[in-house]
Amino acid sequence: MTLAPDSLGPTICIGEILAEIVVTSIGEGFDQPLPMIGPFPSGAPAIFIDQCARMGGSAAIVGAVGKDDFGRMNLTRLQDDGVDISGVIVSPDYPTGTAFVRYRPDGDRDFVFNLWTSAAGQLRWNDKVDDVVSRGGHLHIMGTAIGNGTVWPIVARAAHIIKQRGGSVSLDPNLRKELNGDADVKIMDVIKMTDLLLPSGDELYHAAGLSSDVNEKTAVAKLFASGVSEIAIKRGENGSSCYVSDGTITHASAFGVTEVDPTGAGDCFGGAYVAARRLGLTTDEALTYANAAGALNVTQQGPMEGAATREQLDGFIAAKRSDQ
Ligand code: ATP
Ligand code: MG
Repeated sequence: MTLAPDSLGPTICIGEILAEIVVTSIGEGFDQPLPMIGPFPSGAPAIFIDQCARMGGSAAIVGAVGKDDFGRMNLTRLQDDGVDISGVIVSPDYPTGTAFVRYRPDGDRDFVFNLWTSAAGQLRWNDKVDDVVSRGGHLHIMGTAIGNGTVWPIVARAAHIIKQRGGSVSLDPNLRKELNGDADVKIMDVIKMTDLLLPSGDELYHAAGLSSDVNEKTAVAKLFASGVSEIAIKRGENGSSCYVSDGTITHASAFGVTEVDPTGAGDCFGGAYVAARRLGLTTDEALTYANAAGALNVTQQGPMEGAATREQLDGFIAAKRSDQ
């Protein structure tokens, strides 16, 4: 078993909780007045943990929001969906972080983030954080935290505590061209503490320290040699695959849906996958739930709006299978 069971304690994700505003016209950038919709609850760690809780996994988030409507919107949603928010700090001085997103015609995205210069960057280790981390059974590391001088030390400390109590660690590299770290953290050092890797696109090769012209299996083998024991690869509308270090390989095709808003698909995939594996489901079952969670998410505008309960995922999977 790659991941610690759900009964050891909640899956914890540490990092940004944001309000997201989406431009409703397709195009490049934000250099003129544009129609927008939002705010939506967002931030990769928040989307991930919300889907994890909705899937039925025990789940907690550590982060910081402002004392404003964007913060309240997020905390209400997370709590209603079953996430333990006892480790969230409310900053009296800084506003909740924001992400503006616009889709390009080719499906790429442009972002304007106010991330570590918002309340999100005011996260500090305190008694509330200590309390929730000390109960944690699994840590999900979101790549956005890796280079950050304030948040990365908190994530690394949590990883140490959770591993010491027999917990496990997953990593979603989640590379974004707009986000550059200020701390010198090497991806290989993060890989060494990772049990489950959840890459998409070139992230598999980046994580392995290889160029993307090598064979996928070569990158997987190098990561297994570095201590990773399970790799779930996200392939957008081509579904997903899972490699386990015991040699098991599983592929699952995507569910056919009409994509409305792809943001959050990877995070929902991860939340459902981690919850499913910690609840004892097989890689095949976990990939199916994760593909369903990613597919349902892209049918809704707003990054967290499509996060679905296990019951809803079961209904969606059954309906899609009876269509075939
Ligand atoms: P993100 O952009 O949120 O970081 P990602 O690149 O990490 O996403 P994707 O591969 O885009 O992850 O999506 C995760 C999963 O969601 C896919 O493996 C697939 O199962 C599902 N998914 C994503 N897009 C679609 C789609 N258009 N149709 C069906 N399923 C999809
Ligand atoms: Mg991703």
